[in-house]
Amino acid sequence: MSKSLTIAKFGGTSVANYAAMQNCARIVVNNTATRIVVVSAAAGVTNHLVSLAHTPMTQEQIGEVCNAIVAIEMAIVDSLAEPAAVLPKLNDLLDEMRELAYHEEILHRDDLKDQLLSMGERMSSLLFSAVIAEQGQPAINFDVRKVLRTDSEFGEAVPQLEEISALSQRLLQPEIEHAIVVTQGFVGADEQGKTTTLGRGGSDFTAALLAEALHAEVCEIWTDVAGVYTTDPRIAEKAHPLPELSFEEAAEMATFGAKVLHPATMEPALRKNVKVFVGSSKAPEQGGTWIMRDCEHEPPYRAITRRKDQVMVTVKTPKMMYAQGFLQQVFGIIAKHRLSVDLVTTSEISVSFTLDNPANSVAQRLNKETIAELETICDVNVEHGFDLVTVVGNHMQTAKGVSSKIFAAVSQYNLRMICFGANPHNLSFLVNESDSADIVQHLHKALFE
Ligand code: ASP
Ligand code: MG
Repeated sequence: MSKSLTIAKFGGTSVANYAAMQNCARIVVNNTATRIVVVSAAAGVTNHLVSLAHTPMTQEQIGEVCNAIVAIEMAIVDSLAEPAAVLPKLNDLLDEMRELAYHEEILHRDDLKDQLLSMGERMSSLLFSAVIAEQGQPAINFDVRKVLRTDSEFGEAVPQLEEISALSQRLLQPEIEHAIVVTQGFVGADEQGKTTTLGRGGSDFTAALLAEALHAEVCEIWTDVAGVYTTDPRIAEKAHPLPELSFEEAAEMATFGAKVLHPATMEPALRKNVKVFVGSSKAPEQGGTWIMRDCEHEPPYRAITRRKDQVMVTVKTPKMMYAQGFLQQVFGIIAKHRLSVDLVTTSEISVSFTLDNPANSVAQRLNKETIAELETICDVNVEHGFDLVTVVGNHMQTAKGVSSKIFAAVSQYNLRMICFGANPHNLSFLVNESDSADIVQHLHKALFE
């Protein structure tokens, strides 16, 4: 059975409403290998939950946000052929959501925040299992917290691979023999059974982790675009979908801002050589992108990505000339707060590096703590307003003329930092956020049009 297992993951826009869910259900039942379905929350729901968990609000405002979520979920239930079969369970979940939203400590307790954030996936998986059942297939809604064991780092929990594999084989595998199992992306539980989440966009990661645990052959990521594009088509209109990508290229693209995949998704796929497919649930006939170990072609330029909300931190000490342990101290503090640094430049008395800083994120909180601690050992200067633009490809440090073509395309812009050569798959620039869309357009024209 597991040899031909396919796991299908559907993103928020794919399960945004009843009609969208029906498209997805057809994709699932048309492929008999698909026995596990991982869903995101319906589009918009997680954003509402994040605002409830992070923004101080009046009781009235809390009520309004809750009502917006209720409206999304109720519209789906009302479209079901037999709403009564699902309604009591949905009402229980909505009650749990309201209780958390109004909880006195919601803004201060990370465990409560995660429990609240999990509600979107728990509701969409319930509803989607009903939509599959309507297509005449036995389907169950499986609580992923039984198998998706994580540590207790709420908001950005780290999956515990051995436990996930053992638990999935024991508790999930038997279920897929008799039903299509619909479960929640993004959500996990720690050893005490407390609900955790894997970080925004984490549902792809869940699908890949379950694919790894059950040795699936294929992990399908269904979204609202027909594959991974050369760049975001909203920035460069001539962007086009890529038929194939290697695991390494896809990992670089996701890490450096391509929104279609969560950055950690490729790790499990790579470890167990699970092929990943990205396609549009609205137009499955258009095909999509296959991500795998060996590609037919390894072009020097494959894609351009942009990651927004970057800050540049410069730490400076006149002592650096003599103090050899300074870099180690700086990176020790960064590591302690579990931040990952992407670009680094050094000069004799200073080091600059970039950090991801999206609003209301765990990263934002960690950045503040990190910077405060750095200030105890050196001068720190923090600059905002940057984006990171990355060209992803192959053999970039060894192929002739690769960098000159890229630099020619961006010559008229002010580049604040450049990173090249650390691996063969990327060349990155830190640029002013007001320039980044133009830079992506210029690069796309030069490299792909
Ligand atoms: N619903 C979560 C989010 O919006 C996880 C996901 O969609 O992948 O971040
Ligand atoms: Mg996503």
